Amino acid sequence: MQALPDSAKRLIEELSRLPGIGNKTAQRLAFHILKTDMMIVNRLSDSLKEVKIKVKTCTLCGGISETKVCLICDNPKRDTNLICIVENAPDIFAFERTNIFIGVYHVLDGALSPLDGIGPDELNIKGLMDRIKPGMEIIIATNPTVEGETTALYLSKKLSEFDIKITRLARGIPVGGDLEYIDEATLIRAMEGRTLF
Ligand code: ZN
Repeated sequence: MQALPDSAKRLIEELSRLPGIGNKTAQRLAFHILKTDMMIVNRLSDSLKEVKIKVKTCTLCGGISETKVCLICDNPKRDTNLICIVENAPDIFAFERTNIFIGVYHVLDGALSPLDGIGPDELNIKGLMDRIKPGMEIIIATNPTVEGETTALYLSKKLSEFDIKITRLARGIPVGGDLEYIDEATLIRAMEGRTLF
């Protein structure tokens, strides 16, 4: 790294901060960018800034949106009596890719993890309570990890006081896995085979 120009070193350093990008990959990307046409590099740098400026949190579901309410919450064809609770915003798009879910979502923004100091107050649970209506179905789709299971159990207890149907995804999703990376067929089976909590 010593012989690299400072600006190239900085780019490699910034790229290696991204998830899944080690130093070697960062270096390969940096050299790729060096060879790339200025117009394309400008587009990349503009879109990085644009997404940070424009994309906010949906005030209803906690997903991502360029407007106050996201495209899913704002769609009159979506069934607002069916809420799928997920840990993180990317999970929404795992379900959206399957094209089978007609309800709306609620993003917790994490999972309970007492050891890391993440309790119910750190999650977007109050926002969820405000959305509960009698007769609706809540699907708890937290990740099949210890934290996800703990969160699911906590929510099912907390929600049991309401006159609603509480379901969870069918088994079949690999334990320890992340919904974001599950293949579509497995996710469709898990959603269609969902069971009462
Ligand atoms: Zn929304």
